[in-house]
Amino acid sequence: MKFNPILDTLQTYEAGKPIELVVRDFGLSADSIIKLASNENPLGASKKVIQALKDNAHLVHLYPDDSYYALKEALCYHYSILAQEIIIGAGSDQIIEFCIHAKAPSKVLMAKTTFAMYEIYSKSIGAKILKTKSDSHNLSEFLELYKLHNPEVIFLCIPNNPLGECLDKKEVFSFLKQISKNTLVIVDGAYQEYAAFKDGNKEIKPKELIEQFPNCIYLGTFSKAYGLGGMRVGYGIAKEEIISHLLKIRPPFNITTLSLCAATIALKDKEHIQKTLQNNFSQMQSYEEFAKQNKIDFIPSFTNFITFLLERIDSNALADFLLKRGIIIRNLKSYGLNAVRITIGTKEQNQKLFKAFEEFLKASV
Ligand SMILES: *Cc1c(COP(=O)(O)O)cnc(C)c1O
Repeated sequence: MKFNPILDTLQTYEAGKPIELVVRDFGLSADSIIKLASNENPLGASKKVIQALKDNAHLVHLYPDDSYYALKEALCYHYSILAQEIIIGAGSDQIIEFCIHAKAPSKVLMAKTTFAMYEIYSKSIGAKILKTKSDSHNLSEFLELYKLHNPEVIFLCIPNNPLGECLDKKEVFSFLKQISKNTLVIVDGAYQEYAAFKDGNKEIKPKELIEQFPNCIYLGTFSKAYGLGGMRVGYGIAKEEIISHLLKIRPPFNITTLSLCAATIALKDKEHIQKTLQNNFSQMQSYEEFAKQNKIDFIPSFTNFITFLLERIDSNALADFLLKRGIIIRNLKSYGLNAVRITIGTKEQNQKLFKAFEEFLKASV
């Protein structure tokens, strides 16, 4: 059968290994496995969310309210924006897809090492991909490529996955001043909750962003800080002109009844978010100490993961060694880097990882 030839140039996105696979392959019990590979919240979802899901389970035979009124209202309150400035997606991944299909760009600009889905969606419609020389976001390189090639879409991942670095709001805004109003700039804020907690200079408020730059869309997700990766809810915030176009290609009922319920409750549980952020950055310190003690380079992170740049050791060998011991991390070899990305877990999970990592280092000298 003949398919779109562009698909031959694409690789299937490699998601973090699921726990079930490790159970099957290594005969380990599911509760002994530690998954620090997909940037999920190690504390889980808010207890209020779990309760609400139980209370609403009897509604699953009904299609959801397709206007997503309750969730949009909660987001309006949270961000001081209007309902017509919001689109809800099955993860913010789906909003990326809507943006690419709605804008149908011939050229797309992004950082060299960034979220893989930007390239996959863009290539799937035949767009040419422009990448900076530097792995992480370098806005002067972005500007140079922008002026040279005039891409119709620009992706900024703030903070960036899988490296963890984060641009300052100020530098982002002065970059955006130089971009034409006809260029769609997608500001992916999947880890903004973490960045804003660590350093106020990194915080990008969607309202301020879209008021000043009506050609921007801000993406947020419930999969990371809110602990709802399994529910698949994300959102886009932009001026009505952009949102109204994206809505034309949104399939009806793209979010489940229970997912909407979970996201609406999660947004309001400030205590759980606070606990999540505090655990994350106190545990991040132990990762930094571990790296320093073992002379491993790392990228200072504004997210819920840390990226170790390996020199003496091989990321494949390390990832395999840990996997056999039931610890799943993200190997960045597929990005062309001898590096690993580790999601910050609970104290107990992190201590187990450090212990196994030290065994690996001892065994490899
Ligand atoms: C996790 C992530 C997303 C979106 O995740 P969804 O689960 O689809 O909402 C988007 N961008 C980046 C950079 C991410 O890391």
